[in-house]
Amino acid sequence: MRNIILIIIITIAAAALLPSFNTGAEPAPPRREVVNLRYWTAPEHTRIVLDMSSESVYQVSRRSGPDRIVIDIPKGRLAAGLRKLNVGDGVVDGVRVNRLSSGAQVVIDLPVMSRYRHFALKPNNIHPRHRIVIDVKRIMTVTEKRRKTEKARKVAQSGDYIVIIDPGHGGSAPGAASRYGPSEKYYTLPLSKMIAEEIEKHRGFKAVLTRSGDYDVEWHRRIEIAAEHGGHCFVSIHINSNRNRRIRGSEIYFLSPEGATDMHATAVAERENMQIRMESRGERIEGDAGQILFEMMRNQALNQSSILAEHLADEFKQIGSIPFHDVRQANFIVLQGTAMPSALVEVAYLSNKSDVMQIKKKSVQREVAKAVASGVVSYLLENPPEKMEKRPIRLAVHTVSSGETLSGIAKRYSCSIKDIKSLNNIGNTSLIRAGQKLTVYTKAE
Ligand SMILES: [Zn+2]
Repeated sequence: MRNIILIIIITIAAAALLPSFNTGAEPAPPRREVVNLRYWTAPEHTRIVLDMSSESVYQVSRRSGPDRIVIDIPKGRLAAGLRKLNVGDGVVDGVRVNRLSSGAQVVIDLPVMSRYRHFALKPNNIHPRHRIVIDVKRIMTVTEKRRKTEKARKVAQSGDYIVIIDPGHGGSAPGAASRYGPSEKYYTLPLSKMIAEEIEKHRGFKAVLTRSGDYDVEWHRRIEIAAEHGGHCFVSIHINSNRNRRIRGSEIYFLSPEGATDMHATAVAERENMQIRMESRGERIEGDAGQILFEMMRNQALNQSSILAEHLADEFKQIGSIPFHDVRQANFIVLQGTAMPSALVEVAYLSNKSDVMQIKKKSVQREVAKAVASGVVSYLLENPPEKMEKRPIRLAVHTVSSGETLSGIAKRYSCSIKDIKSLNNIGNTSLIRAGQKLTVYTKAE
């Protein structure tokens, strides 16, 4: 009897340890099977995603006559009923599959050969499957490129207050999931469009969205779009999620390079950052920030960001349908590198039923949009950017030579040891080694 109980306990324990996507009674899918094909058209690329049953070895090659990108999965299989994709967006004609004796083959047909990149992604708490991702770049003519820059320059020089609204996630990155409705990306875009509409109702204000459709935008591209359009402030729109389904309400965040105000803020930043890391494989991230050499009015922007967050909070306190928590600070990747006052709004909790019921209502969305718009407008009117002290600070990369010390490097660039430590994730040690690359602040001319 004791043995039986023991076996039952072990079985329960083993089942509890299995990831949630693998607990069903269905037999495990065969290894290296292409389960599904998906695509998203973005302004600058088309993303093709192969959902795989397991981690898979694959090779990508380009072929011509006709132009195509071929993904070979040796010993791979194709799921029954796997249908080809008709894309036809000017970048990709379509995606088809071939069953070969050597394995599975996925062919991306192109109207013209383009640059592409590929990477594999492991499952996470949002995507239960392994994935192979291929991004095919859109080829832009010189005229198209010029027209695009011209358009952004016109906005930047319009003399209006420019507000950048950043709809969180998009495309293959759905954001937080919810048991009560669609995932985060389905709320952030319509909400951001509504916010832009509300902002433009104010004379002398223009809103620019970092994405206008359901597609992936890398975090640094979001920041570039903000800079190109001469943004005066940046507001990223998200919907929160928590394991505790009782937690609800809205929260406003601004950047803290030193760390979060509390455990809750750390968890929220970690969730959002984890998704950015997943979504931006192969791209520059955090530690490489020095290579971007973006201009940062750091102390100024941070100080202003806290004022912007307070203005937003004052408006959110008036919303009756969703309770407001407070303003918090945490280290969000998407807020790093914005040379302008910036904030991140977590509008509600997708893990809380009452919050979802509210945020699904158009009237509540309108209320939230008006709150963001009023907060941003009152902030900019009271803190006009012209009055901001212009003290641009740049980031640079310093390679340590032998014999150099942290204090010596700090002195050379007129930045503090604390700055160097936080920029490079150096803990309590003062030890550096020759050849080590350190990101430092340096005063711009
Ligand atoms: Zn988010």
